[in-house]
Amino acid sequence: MALIVQKFGGTSVADTQKILAAARKAIRERRAGNQVVMVVSAMGKQTDHLIELAKELSERPNNREMDMLLSTGEQVTIALMAIALESLGYKAVSFTGAQIGIRTDATYSKARIRSISTDRMKRALDEGKIVIAAGFQGIDDDFNITTLGRGGSDTTAVALAAALQADRCDIYTDVDGVYTTDPRIVPEARRVDRISYDEMLELASMGAGVMHSRSIEFAKKFGVLVHVRSSFSDGDGTLIGPLPEREHAPVCGVALAKDETRLTVVGVPDKPGVAMQIFSKLADARIATDMIAQNSSADGKTDVSLTLQSDDAYKAREVVSQLVDEIGAESFEFDENVAKISVVGLGMANQTGVAQQMFHALFECGINIHMIATSDIKISALVSRDDAVKALRATHASFKLDQELTPEEINARSAVATSPASLDKCASARLISHLTGMEDVVVESIDLDAAQARVTLYALPDSPGLAAKVFDRVAEGHIIVDMIVQSVGRDNLANITFTIPRDELDSVMKVAQELCDTFHCSAEYDSRAAKLTVRGAGLRSHTGLAYRMFRTLGEGNVNVSVISLSERCAAVIVDEAHGETGRDNLAKEFSEETF
Ligand code: ASP
Ligand code: MG
Repeated sequence: MALIVQKFGGTSVADTQKILAAARKAIRERRAGNQVVMVVSAMGKQTDHLIELAKELSERPNNREMDMLLSTGEQVTIALMAIALESLGYKAVSFTGAQIGIRTDATYSKARIRSISTDRMKRALDEGKIVIAAGFQGIDDDFNITTLGRGGSDTTAVALAAALQADRCDIYTDVDGVYTTDPRIVPEARRVDRISYDEMLELASMGAGVMHSRSIEFAKKFGVLVHVRSSFSDGDGTLIGPLPEREHAPVCGVALAKDETRLTVVGVPDKPGVAMQIFSKLADARIATDMIAQNSSADGKTDVSLTLQSDDAYKAREVVSQLVDEIGAESFEFDENVAKISVVGLGMANQTGVAQQMFHALFECGINIHMIATSDIKISALVSRDDAVKALRATHASFKLDQELTPEEINARSAVATSPASLDKCASARLISHLTGMEDVVVESIDLDAAQARVTLYALPDSPGLAAKVFDRVAEGHIIVDMIVQSVGRDNLANITFTIPRDELDSVMKVAQELCDTFHCSAEYDSRAAKLTVRGAGLRSHTGLAYRMFRTLGEGNVNVSVISLSERCAAVIVDEAHGETGRDNLAKEFSEETF
């Protein structure tokens, strides 16, 4: 007998007919002999409606009362679902978050789950009942009702699946799976059969929009297989698990984040701890930063560029105008008309030429790249907002993401991703007992690669095709380029920094010299670069992590020259001489979170 968790989002329970249809999905599993736990959202747009009511009364309603209010949406659905199931002749019982012991911290509207007690649910399941749990809610230590943030029912579902060691977690929604990109913008977009946790994490926060990213962090941490499927049709959906769809494909999807703003702090003194101050001030103001490009400096000064969501631009302006004097920077600059295109794929980690292919696709339609940032499985390019859709389509086409799997590819797929038996239940049990807070950051590894070299090209004319030309030349030598950072500098001149394996430095510098002749720019290198990488789940949704990383390095007097940050990977370039100290300090700082 298997245990299945089924989650139904708002559109899937929008009226009583839909509630009945959802109930039938649970019954189907029950009749197949499985135990079923349903997690439901508020009906239709009920949560929005409740928010509007509160706003009619107050511009800034009290946070505790908001959670009290919003949690009622889900409470309505669980009761109706239980009534529906009983009317169809099945035993069912509904539970609020408090009744099944979903303990959270006390951060109203963004609470994090600390623990779940499964006794009561297990008892009901053993009595043959279908259990219906309210999504999105929990209680803190003082029994106040808390909510997990918009879209939080996904997280409830995956968390229950983890705590109950369910065989599968089915997420029923109004789309029929995860697509290679947004099909409303790019009609050629294709539904993928499978996607790996890491790919989904990198895509989710970038507007793929299918699932709450915290739920994927959870799923990965506890090895929960998540099946996204349509409530309204019987398609195959998409399985989110440990493996990618195509083993060797460099890219599995492209995401567009339309409403980005670029901030550049110009002329920042290049000293340990300065980058940290910028991020800590922004983190204090609860502004999440995204692409970060700190170019190594030419004259003891560096420019730090980052992107943030346009909603936060106003707040960021206030923070930064104060900060510039405090840290002794020269000035700052905002560009509010930019968008970010990101390609993601597990396969790119060990292939050459992926970045270059993306840059080419953009160049061929005449699009200028303002900023580039890469992490191990993601390459992001910042472009003008007006170019965003064109850029998305060009990139999607370039990586042939619309192509269906061939029969050979389907046969070659390993069975692991679909077989719950292959999940290491012991490991997940160990992990559960190890974590006091279920949603704490988990650091998987802290690595030092001490054999890198950094190359920087300064003052390149910023025009379409620049990055494509540079990396074309570098790629001719089949050199694996690791981190790439491009930022706009002063006077519309761009700087490009990248890292390579140290033993390739001589040949790359030859190419760099030629590029300098062509572009009238200058090149500089550091043959003693080392890369420090922190990998894990929950890195980005815990805004303070990057800050802790920089603080730790700064306190150890380790100067950081290049930074790259993504959902699940934070990497910095430091001097080789400081590599080991840096790694040891980070290991100490994150010892509690390391599994
Ligand atoms: N009802 C909540 C919302 O609309 C939670 C959820 O649906 O996941 O955000
Ligand atoms: Mg949702």
